[in-house]
Order: sequence, then structure tokens, then C-alpha cells
Amino acid sequence: MSGHSYETGKTNGSVHKAVCESCQIEQRHIVEASARSRWDSDEYTGITEFEVIRCLNCDTLSFRKEASNSEDYWYDPETEEYTSHFDVSVYPNRTAGRFKIDGHYHLPPDVRAAYEEVISAVNGGQPILAGLGVRVLIEVICRDRNAAGKSLLAKIDDLKAKGVLTHAGADILHKLRSMGNESAHEAKPSSDKQISLAMDVVDNLLQSVYIHPNEAKSAFK
Ligand SMILES: [Zn+2]
Repeated sequence: MSGHSYETGKTNGSVHKAVCESCQIEQRHIVEASARSRWDSDEYTGITEFEVIRCLNCDTLSFRKEASNSEDYWYDPETEEYTSHFDVSVYPNRTAGRFKIDGHYHLPPDVRAAYEEVISAVNGGQPILAGLGVRVLIEVICRDRNAAGKSLLAKIDDLKAKGVLTHAGADILHKLRSMGNESAHEAKPSSDKQISLAMDVVDNLLQSVYIHPNEAKSAFK
């Protein structure tokens, strides 16, 4: 028999380990609702499970998709068993474990939009777009702070002159700027380490320019 079939509730109540978006660490999640899509042909079976999962620690809901098929099984001579390969994805994406900074809601809308796209690119394993996104984000911050200058280099220096950026911060931003240049012109992916450092610097910048001043306003009324 060949064709598509669907079943619901097959995996309800089962438990998976996944990184929780709120707890920010791996937690046990229970399947609250599920639908199974199955494709059969004479020599091939593919199954994809679509699941709404809930963190057993904090009740945050996420979406989990697990795909497997009869071609992805292999024989392991050591255990004398067949092992299968599962392709798992979780939404919202959090595979690389880069979480939004606390207080990100204080960011102005255009800065926040650019920041969220960079986080998605970092977590989605897209190092070219992430490198490019860091550069775009710096451009947006410069525009928002009315940095003067024709080039991004001049604008970063202007932010330093205005006291928005420290000397060390400006130096690092210049390095990030060239990282974005390479992404844009040579489609050269940035390394995980470069991106991680870039995001640490960007987080610091966003905190000192936007988040801390806003939080100070409400804390010291
Ligand atoms: Zn949780």
C-alpha cells in the first residue's frame, strides 16, 4: 500500500528533553498534542511527528518536529541492533542556545527588529547571515543615536567621541564591522567564536545605550 495517512494523539504524554526557551537550559517536556504524518510506499516509510510540548519546570509551550524514515536505519555490529536517525527541530529555534538579553523590550523598534533577526540567524546556524546581521545592527544603532559620518567607520568613531562607546568598545566594533564586510562581499561565514564574541559586545552595547538607562529611570524615580 502506498500513500499518505494522518493520525493524531499518538505521542501525547510522552516526554522529550529539549532546551526550554524560558528556563534557558535543557528540561523535560511533555507532549500535550500531536499529529503524525506518514508516507508509505512499497520500499519506504517516512514518519513525521508534529508535537506541542510543555516544559515540566515552567509550563512554557514550544513546537517540536521529529522526522524519521526507513532509509535512515543502519546496522551497528557492536550492539547487533538497528539504529535510526531522527531529525529533530524545535520552534522557536534555540539550538545554538543564544538567548535574547534581559530587557530587550526596552530597545527601539528598529533596533529590536534587527537584533531579533540576528539572534534567529545565529541560532539557525546561518553564519553568513549572522555576520551580515551584526553589521546591519551596528548601522541601525548608529542611525538611532544620530552618529555623524559618511562611512560606518566614521560613525563608530563619532559614537566614541560622543561618549556612547568606550575606546575598547569602538575597537571591537571596528572588528565586527569588517566581519560584516566579509560576509557581504565574499559570502565568508564567520566562525562560531567570532559570532559569539560579536554578540557579547553587541549585548553590552545595547545594555549600556538602551536597557540600563531605561531600567535606571524606573528604578530611581
Ligand atoms: Zn522551562
